[in-house]
Amino acid sequence: MTERVPLHLFTKEMKETHTLLFPNMLPLHFQLVQNVLKGSGYKVELLHNEGAHLIEEGLRYVHNDTCYPALITIGQMIDALKSGGYDLEHVALIMTQTGGGCRASNYIYLLRKALKDAGMEQVPVISVSLGKMENHPGFKLTFPMLRRLLAALAYGDALMLLSNQTRPYEKEKGQTDQLVDDWVQTISELFQNNTGFSLNQVRQNYSKIVCDFSRIPLKKTPKVKVGIVGEIFVKYSPLANNHLQNFLEQEACEVMVPGIMQFMLYAIDMPMEDVRLYGGSKFAKQASMLIYTYLSKFEAALIDAVKTKSDFTAPASYSALKEKARPLIGIGCKMGEGWLLTAEMVELVESGYENIVCTQPFGCLPNHIAGKGMISSIRNAYPKANIVAIDYDPGATKVNQENRIKLMLAIGKENIFGNL
Ligand code: SF4
Repeated sequence: MTERVPLHLFTKEMKETHTLLFPNMLPLHFQLVQNVLKGSGYKVELLHNEGAHLIEEGLRYVHNDTCYPALITIGQMIDALKSGGYDLEHVALIMTQTGGGCRASNYIYLLRKALKDAGMEQVPVISVSLGKMENHPGFKLTFPMLRRLLAALAYGDALMLLSNQTRPYEKEKGQTDQLVDDWVQTISELFQNNTGFSLNQVRQNYSKIVCDFSRIPLKKTPKVKVGIVGEIFVKYSPLANNHLQNFLEQEACEVMVPGIMQFMLYAIDMPMEDVRLYGGSKFAKQASMLIYTYLSKFEAALIDAVKTKSDFTAPASYSALKEKARPLIGIGCKMGEGWLLTAEMVELVESGYENIVCTQPFGCLPNHIAGKGMISSIRNAYPKANIVAIDYDPGATKVNQENRIKLMLAIGKENIFGNL
């Protein structure tokens, strides 16, 4: 039987005395999240430590059949704590969890056990989940904080979407990243001044953001357009996917990565789908519907701003994605990224990003089914789809992953430039 590790609470006093460390899953979005937490009175730090030794740390403290995202994030946190850079009596960890039915809901217990085995049991761990949250007296997701956090993710999606479409083509290198930095600062200051997070304010700022990106001078040379999909952590985190986006941009590609808002809508919608399919609490369904409607408005605002103010490619709405998946996979398939992963691939192919890297972590059965397992059905429906599934596991080498991606890119280049 697994030993139960006691829960060390993050107390009210710790808000003053402790630094919260958290893994940098979405580098752009999480800069804003970090600033929201700071603005709410927390001391926070995003983790940036990297290297093969993190995997060794992970393997030392969690079983080697554990999902790769758990292994690498736990390895990163333990490595940071062991680095000597933090006072172990004044540090705590935050781990985000999707709260889904797969092993994602167990990461927090794995981390606590790892801390105990490493002799750092006293370090409190706060779980931030879309599902049920533990009660830590010193860490509360208050309503004002939640509104800012949701808006931060919504802005992050906009900045990611637009910067990915200008960075590869900019005439003056660095202009895109400078604009991203400027907007991160502007949004953080707006939040600090108690504004910028209502739906109307986000809508207005979306227009300004889209117009700003439209003004970046571009040289539109043909490039291989590549979509990145897969398990949520490995898809977004440069640590976990070996800086996949940088690699693709160095290979002269334009990269499209689906936004986090779609995943959040999916996570909120799926319990409602459960009620439809299997029955259950109508009250829970109505509560989910309220949040779903609120988030859908942010999504609609971004699509509207991109379509009306620019020539950039806008994302499909969540409801449109659901319809794209329906002919290929059951909508009740909701472990991991579930049907959303299939839908994202279809949407990418339909919007011109026919070349796709499907990131698959070791130990992830759901995404091997809804990702790798669906490639042949997608190819049957969309013969131009050029998809490669790449495994991310403790034994995979960057060189091997990149070589496999280069083979996929060779087909993508041939489709644009012909046989060179
Ligand atoms: S989605 Fe996959 S990798 Fe993530 S916890 Fe679930 S099974 Fe593991």
